[in-house]
Amino acid sequence: MQTETKYIFVTGGVMSGLGKGVVSSSIAKLLQLSNQKVSCVKIDPYLNYDAGTMNPIAHGEVFVTDDGGECDMDIGNYERFLNQSIPRTHNITTAQIYSTVIEAERRGEYLGACVQIIPHVTDAIKERIRKIAKGEGLDVLVVECGGTVGDIESLPFLEALRQMRLEEGSSNVIFVHVTLAPSLDVVGEQKTKPTQHSVQELRRIGIQPDLMAVRCSRPLETSAKRKISLFSNVSERDVFSCHDAESILMVPQMLYDQGIIDVIFKKFGKMGLVNTSANWDKWNSVVNSFSNLHDQVRIAMVGKYVKLADSYVSVNQALKHAGAKIGKNVVIDWIDSEELDGNLDNLAQYNGIIVPGGFGERGAEGIISTANFAREKNIPYLGICFGFQLAAVAFGRYVCGLADANSTEINPSTQNPVIDLLPEQKFIENKGGSLRLGANEIKVEDNTLGFRLYKSNTIFKRHRHRYEFNQKYLEMFNKHGLLFSGYSDSRKRMEILEIPSHKFYLGVQFHPEFNSRPGYPEESFEAFIRASSTA
Ligand code: GLN
Repeated sequence: MQTETKYIFVTGGVMSGLGKGVVSSSIAKLLQLSNQKVSCVKIDPYLNYDAGTMNPIAHGEVFVTDDGGECDMDIGNYERFLNQSIPRTHNITTAQIYSTVIEAERRGEYLGACVQIIPHVTDAIKERIRKIAKGEGLDVLVVECGGTVGDIESLPFLEALRQMRLEEGSSNVIFVHVTLAPSLDVVGEQKTKPTQHSVQELRRIGIQPDLMAVRCSRPLETSAKRKISLFSNVSERDVFSCHDAESILMVPQMLYDQGIIDVIFKKFGKMGLVNTSANWDKWNSVVNSFSNLHDQVRIAMVGKYVKLADSYVSVNQALKHAGAKIGKNVVIDWIDSEELDGNLDNLAQYNGIIVPGGFGERGAEGIISTANFAREKNIPYLGICFGFQLAAVAFGRYVCGLADANSTEINPSTQNPVIDLLPEQKFIENKGGSLRLGANEIKVEDNTLGFRLYKSNTIFKRHRHRYEFNQKYLEMFNKHGLLFSGYSDSRKRMEILEIPSHKFYLGVQFHPEFNSRPGYPEESFEAFIRASSTA
C-alpha cells in the first residue's frame, strides 16, 4: 500500500543566491539517508518555458537531464546530492503552467467558466506537483520555490503551496523558509530584521513557516535565534543555522547535528526509524574524501562564460569529484578565451587544460588556439562539446593544413566546414528546446582511450548541441593521427575524438559533467585529472 506522500516546501526571503538549492538538497539528502524515497522539484517563476534560452552568465549553467530537459542548475545540485537522475518535469516554470491552462481552455475544458489564476492556474500547479509525488511513489517530495518572497511572479506558486497545506493537512506539509542574518563586520552582531520582514511578507500571503533555515557567516547566535523565533512565531528548536561551510556537502551533517531530521519526522508523525548507519558511513566517506587534499593539480578552464563561477558549475564540480577520488586538490583557474589574445604561454604552467561548452563566435579563436597549444605542448586536454568541436577545427587548421577550417557556427562561409550543422537542424526555426538534447547511446571502439576509460562499448551520455563533426573530413583526420573512438546513430555522428600519440587529448561531443557525482566522478574527468597529475 502506498503511504501518503509528505511535502516539504522551501521558500526564500531577503535576497536571492542564499543557497535555497543547497538547503533543499541537504534536507532531501537527510531524508534519503533515513531510508525515505525522496526527490526534489524546482519551481522557477519566470516566463521562459525552460532555462534553455537563458544566458549562463546571468542565470548560471543550463543543466541537461537524461530526458533532454534544459533545466535550472538546482536540478544539478539535487542530482549530485541524491546521486539519482531527476526528470525534466521536476523543473516547473510559469510558462509551462500557463501553457497547460491555455491549451485546456482552447480544448474547451473550462467551458462556461471564466479562467482565473485562482483556481485554474493554482490547480494546474498543484496537479503537476501531486502527479510527480504519486507517479514516482515518493515518501517525501521537496519543492523549492525560486525567487524571493514578495516577488510578483512567484505569487501564484506560493498561493498553490498554501492551498496544498490546507488540502493535504498540516501533518503532511512542512514549510521551510530560508533567510539571511547578516553581520556588518566579522565579529558584529547578527541582524535579524531582514528575516523578520521576510517572514511578515510570507505570512501576509497566508503562509506560516514551520522551520527557518538562516544563512549566516558564523553559527547563528542564541540571541539571534531567540529573536527570529519570537518574530517568526517558530519555536527556537525549529530555527536552524546554515553557516558557511568548507564544502556544501557538509550542510546535511550541519543540519542533522541541530536535530532537523527529528523535527521533520515528528511533524510528519513518522515513527520507528530504522538503523541507517550504513547509509551514513557511505555518505561520510564521500564527504570526507573532499577534505585534507594537499597535493595540487592546476587546471586552466578556458571558456566563454567564465566570469560567473555558476556558468560551469557542473564542470567545476566534476573536476572536484575527480580530484577527491584520487586524493588531489584540483585548483581551477578560469580564463576568458576572449582575453587570451594570442598570448598562450601563460597556459604552459598548468597541469591540464579543459575547454567546456559554449555557443557563438565570440571568444572562439582563443579556444581554437588553446586546443592547438595543448596538443603541441603535450598538455592533457579535455574538450567538452564546443571544446570537442574547436579541437577538431584546430587539428584541421594546424595538422591537416586546412588554413580556414572552421565551424559554420563561427564562419558560415568557410571553405572547410569541419564542424557543421546537424542535418536535421537545417530547417529548424525555433530556438527554444530545439537542440539535440538529452541522453543518447554512444558506441565506443575497442583498444582506444575511450574504451580504456569507459570500460564498455556502449555508454549513454547527455547532449546539448546543434553542430557536429563533418564526416567529409573523417579520412583526412584519421590519416593525420586523430582517431574518433566513439560515435552514435550507426556512425552518423562522431562523439569522441582522441590523439593516441598525445599524453592525453580527449574531446567529447556530449556533456560528461552532468553525469558526475560526489564519490563517483564521471570517467573522462577522472582520467583527465589522473593524466594531469602525472609528470
Ligand atoms: N555551440 C555548439 C553547438 O551548438 C556547442 C554547444 C555546446 O557546447 N553545448 O553544437
